[in-house]
Amino acid sequence: MRASRFFISTLKEAPSDAEIASHKLMMRAGMIKRVGSGIYTYMPMGLRVIRKVEAIVREEMNRSGAIELLMPVVQPAELWQETGRWDKMGPELMRVKDRHGRDFAIQPTSEEVITDVVRTDIKSYRQLPINFYHIQTKFRDERRPRFGLMRGREFTMKDAYSFDRDVAGMQQSYQIMYDAYVRIFSRFGLQFRAVAADVGAIGGTGSHEFHVIADTGEDAIVYCPSSDFAANVEAAEALSLTPARAAASEPLTKTATPGKAKCEDVAQYLKLPLAQTVKSIVLTVEKEKGNETWLLLLRGDHDMNEIKVNKIAGLAGGYRFATEAEIVETFGTPPGYLGPIGTKQPVTVVADRTVANMHDFVCGANELDFHLTGVNWGRDLPEPLVADLRNVVEGDPSPDGKGVLAIQRGIEVGHVFQLGTRYSEDMQATFLDEHGKPQPLQMGCYGIGITRILGAAIEQNFDDKGIIWPASLAPFEVVLCPMGYDRSETVKAETDKLYAALQTAGVDVIVDDRGERPGVMFAEWELIGVPHRIVIGERGLKEGNLEYQGRRDAAATPVALDAMVEFVS
Ligand code: ATP
Ligand code: MG
Ligand code: MG
Ligand code: MG
Repeated sequence: MRASRFFISTLKEAPSDAEIASHKLMMRAGMIKRVGSGIYTYMPMGLRVIRKVEAIVREEMNRSGAIELLMPVVQPAELWQETGRWDKMGPELMRVKDRHGRDFAIQPTSEEVITDVVRTDIKSYRQLPINFYHIQTKFRDERRPRFGLMRGREFTMKDAYSFDRDVAGMQQSYQIMYDAYVRIFSRFGLQFRAVAADVGAIGGTGSHEFHVIADTGEDAIVYCPSSDFAANVEAAEALSLTPARAAASEPLTKTATPGKAKCEDVAQYLKLPLAQTVKSIVLTVEKEKGNETWLLLLRGDHDMNEIKVNKIAGLAGGYRFATEAEIVETFGTPPGYLGPIGTKQPVTVVADRTVANMHDFVCGANELDFHLTGVNWGRDLPEPLVADLRNVVEGDPSPDGKGVLAIQRGIEVGHVFQLGTRYSEDMQATFLDEHGKPQPLQMGCYGIGITRILGAAIEQNFDDKGIIWPASLAPFEVVLCPMGYDRSETVKAETDKLYAALQTAGVDVIVDDRGERPGVMFAEWELIGVPHRIVIGERGLKEGNLEYQGRRDAAATPVALDAMVEFVS
């Protein structure tokens, strides 16, 4: 590639809505351009990285035996109604109507469509196992799009779906995907961790998330440094909770209907007998203030017949505690705590001014038997808040008894899941076994956030000059910076020769032939994050040398002209 024929558009300053390094740097490096909330144009430089991510994912998926197809973005509502997800998904599912008034979903994933493919095209156990995947645009009307590509509304996902004749087969297909994911994230050159993600109805091995480790990650992950225990915070917490809670198949997310909720209702939401101890209940209440929305966080201990708010946990970056005066002004209640039912004590509140959505504010009534109304349950919370309010504490004993727990923050970049017959039963997707008897297909699903990988990679690899792409993901592996391409015949000739030789060697190289001043040129490529830079100048050439500098190197090294191709490839 020649820079003069490519599109490079860098910025001195990041826009003010960019909060974290990856978002700021992607904007400044001209990789993405904001079109609307959570909606971006992938600019030529950014698209090159996306294509590199896709190529690695595609290679490893193919290697694992999965077969690529491409399912539509716009999907008829009827399929979604068959599984009940049309109603269950709520506002995150984007819905559109066609000119005839028919309903459609803009796919957030494609379980329904693939199950429809399989129920008509797979007839016999002889066609199993099979795993289909696609790399396709997704849309999720996220409550809180942010951090650029990290939590977009429109984004690209690789999603795969395996179909097997029995549970053992499904588990084998799952393991094949798990292993492929380990290869994929290793090839990206990122530090990652696979964590158990579900210990509910399906059991301890039902699901894993793959997290790229980063302090700005929205998730907390819990692991034991002296064993292989690793779980996301929900799974870790469920392991340390009562068997009744662990066995409950319903997630902990509940939005109470406006009106007064009784203590028994709380217990019912949590699927627990009233007397059982629920160690931690997280409540949120939101209130609009001017054009900001504030979030109240309460942590309650359900102890027999009372809920106390006895602790306000520390909140991670991006959030802050409101001052007492702000709390009083906003909520008309001083900070304090919600005491035993029947007392009239004030409510403890923490406010956050960054949450976008709004719910009714009625909470902490403190009357006999009435204490919670219009509240959201735990998992409706933005992730970082939930994580910090959870019950798992660093230094607690690990559930496997082999050491103590440590906590890290992570970015969820992949998720594998054993679904069983959840979709095949609703959609009557069966195959004929060797006795000619119809059996429901055992299914698994496997996602990778293609575009989120860019953000995650940068969160792990940047400095004050800009991005430092791992070589496997860089938009270009090598940049040639000639000193006076338009002025010096020798420089031009040697640059062109090297450019051709690198291309022949299969190196993804760009030559900066724009005639920019060296300082400007270097700063721009450092911002963009190309891992290898070669400077071609008359002075060096006289001694038969070029200058090489790796993106992380403090200074340049002279490398002999004829050794350079081998040096960088
Ligand atoms: P999150 O917990 O971050 O909301 P999720 O659990 O809802 O993600 P999955 O349904 O497991 O996401 O989807 C598979 C993968 O798609 C995720 O692991 C993530 O990498 C990616 N992904 C999900 N939502 C987004 C988004 N809004 N923007 C970019 N990538 C996303
Ligand atoms: Mg989500
Ligand atoms: Mg998740
Ligand atoms: Mg997930």
